Amino acid sequence: MNKNTAIYAVILSFGLALVLAVPAKKPVREDKQMQLIELRESIKNDADWLKIPDSTWKKVLSPEAYKILRGHGTEMACSGKLYTNKQSGTYACGACGLELFHAEKKFDSGTGWPSFVAPIEGNIISREDSSYGMIRTEVLCRRCHSHLGHVFPDGPPPTGLRYCINSVAIEFRPSL
Ligand SMILES: [Zn+2]
Repeated sequence: MNKNTAIYAVILSFGLALVLAVPAKKPVREDKQMQLIELRESIKNDADWLKIPDSTWKKVLSPEAYKILRGHGTEMACSGKLYTNKQSGTYACGACGLELFHAEKKFDSGTGWPSFVAPIEGNIISREDSSYGMIRTEVLCRRCHSHLGHVFPDGPPPTGLRYCINSVAIEFRPSL
């Protein structure tokens, strides 16, 4: 081995050691997803969901989900990936993971947002919302009080209700 080859070999092994020593940086979205899973696993009783500081929610939710769930925002119509989902399964809160709607209660409202005739009983709370000069009924997750959307009295039978839910505020769990 001549001198130059030896130098190259040393540089190469240093480089390789450096690459192996520094773990690949995970994409932000995947990283947040992991932190959200860890947060959910760390909460042992329902009351503790309401003690989570806003800074933690900001850390574990995607910017879009944070804006809707914690900032009471509304996504653009037809923008959500669950709007046209017709698979059977369950829809859960995008923040705490509580199951909120069964897929068989979903219907095509033509509005641009996932719509349901009824929630899983006891898992949704509602309150009056007078923002934007309208009187509407806001619906929130019973457990973590995250904003989900609104409920309107123009739905199909049997309830006559339309739970108009932001796609980004819920996650879909297909039935096995
Ligand atoms: Zn929740």
